[in-house]
Amino acid sequence: MNYDQLWSKVLEDIRCLVNSLIYNTYFSCTKLYKLEGNEATIVVPYDIYREHLTRFYLNDIVNCLQKETNQIYDINFILEDEINSKEEVSTPIVEKDDLEIKPKIEYKYSSNLNKNYNFDNFVVGNSNRLAHATALAVAQAPGQLYNPLFLYGSSGLGKTHLMQAIGNYIEENSDKKVLYVSSEQFTDDYTQMCRDSEYTEFFKNKYRSIDVLIIDDIQYLAARQKTQEEFFHTFNVLHHDNKQIIISSDRSPNDLKLLEDRLNSRFGWGVMMDIFPPDLDLRKNILRKKIQANNLLPQIDDDVIDYIAANVSNDVRGLEGAINRLMAVSFMMSYDHITLPIAVDALKTMINKGTTEKNNILKIQKVVADTYKISVDDLKSKKRSAVVAGPRHIAMYLSRELLNESYERIGLEFGGKDHSTVMSSCNKIQEEINNNIELKNKIDEIKKNIV
Ligand code: ADP
Ligand code: MG
Repeated sequence: MNYDQLWSKVLEDIRCLVNSLIYNTYFSCTKLYKLEGNEATIVVPYDIYREHLTRFYLNDIVNCLQKETNQIYDINFILEDEINSKEEVSTPIVEKDDLEIKPKIEYKYSSNLNKNYNFDNFVVGNSNRLAHATALAVAQAPGQLYNPLFLYGSSGLGKTHLMQAIGNYIEENSDKKVLYVSSEQFTDDYTQMCRDSEYTEFFKNKYRSIDVLIIDDIQYLAARQKTQEEFFHTFNVLHHDNKQIIISSDRSPNDLKLLEDRLNSRFGWGVMMDIFPPDLDLRKNILRKKIQANNLLPQIDDDVIDYIAANVSNDVRGLEGAINRLMAVSFMMSYDHITLPIAVDALKTMINKGTTEKNNILKIQKVVADTYKISVDDLKSKKRSAVVAGPRHIAMYLSRELLNESYERIGLEFGGKDHSTVMSSCNKIQEEINNNIELKNKIDEIKKNIV
C-alpha cells in the first residue's frame, strides 16, 4: 500500500466523523507526505488548515490513522510550499516493514453510518417527495414493506443521504443491526475472502449477521461477475430472512445491463424509487437549510440564495459546493456579511452567468430533439405538424418542470413564442402524463438523459 492509498482509507474514516462541509473544506485537499518512526507528516495547502486541523481534528486524525495502521502517530503538518519541489508528494512506496498493516480478521460490528445524514436535514421537494416518503416507510418498518428498496437517480441528488438516513433512523429506533457499505467495499471484502480463506468467517459475520444491508452505488458491480454472484447469494440469504435490503444506483435496474438478469429480477420484488434533479424551490430550500445548519458562515443576503439557486441547478452537491466556496472566501477575507456582489465574485469560476441558464433550456431542447430525431431548429420553428409540435410541447414542459423557468423566458427560447402558448403546452403535457403511462415513461427517460 502506498501513502496515497493509505491516506484515502484514513480520509474515508474521517469522512464518517465530520460533516461534509468540514470534510470538503479541510480534509479533501490533504495528503500524507510520509510516515517515519512514530511521526506522520501531512501536507496542507495553507497555514489556516494546519491551525484548524490541529485545533479541532487532531484526535480524529490520530484515531483514524491508528485504525488503518494499528499504530499511534504524532501528527506533523507541512505546507505544500515547504516541500522541496523535486520531491513528488505521493510517490514513496511504503516498505512492508515500514508499515505493517495487520490483517483485521476479527470482525467487529460497526454500522459504518454517517450520523450527519438524517431525515431531519433532508429537504423535501417535488423531485424527491416520493423517494423520501418511501424511505421513511422503510425506516419505520424495515423488512416488512418495500424489500428491497431500490433508489436511483443521477449523482449528487441525495441517494446516499437518504439511505444513510434510513440506517440512522433504524439504529436509533430499534436494536436492529444495520450495515452500510459501498459496492467497492463489498468488492474489497469479497476479494479479500477469495485470497485468504481466513476471511471467510469475517465475511460471514459482517454480511450475514445483520438486519439491514445498505449497499451504495451498485452500478460498480456491473462489471464484476464473481462479486455479483456473491452479492446475489448474500441478498438471497438476507431477503429470505426478511432482512431489509436497500440498494442505490445511478442507473435504473433496467439500465444496469451488465448486472445479471437474475439479480435484476430480484430487484423487481421490492420497490424502485427515482430521485430527480431539484426544482428551483427545492434548491432554495436546500440552500437555506444548509446555510442555517452551518454556524461558520456569516450572514448571507437573500438575493445570494436566489442567485445560487437560479444558476447552480443540476444537483445538490453543486449547491453545497457553492456554499463551501462562500465559506472559504468569507473565512480567508474575514467577511462578516455576504452580499450579492461578493457572492458573484466568489462564485465566478463555478457560475458562468449568462450562458448557464440559457444552456439549460438548450440542453433540454437538444435531448428532446435527439430523442425524436428532429432538430433543435424544428423545435424553435413555427411548424405545426405533429412530429414537431409534440416534442416541442414536451421540451417546453420539461423546461418549466425541471428549471422552473418563467413561461415568458421559455417562449423566448423557443423562437419567440407567446407565454400563453407555452403555458397551454405545459398544461397539455401535464394532463396527458396523468392519463398516458407510455408518455410518462418516455418523459422520465428523457429526464434522465437531461441530467
Ligand atoms: P448521491 O448519493 O445521489 O450522489 P448524496 O446523497 O451524496 O448524492 O448527496 C450529495 C450531497 O447533497 C450530500 O451532502 C447530501 O447531504 C446533499 N443532499 C442531497 N439531497 C439533499 C436534500 N434533499 N436535502 C439536503 N441535502 C441534500
Ligand atoms: Mg452516493
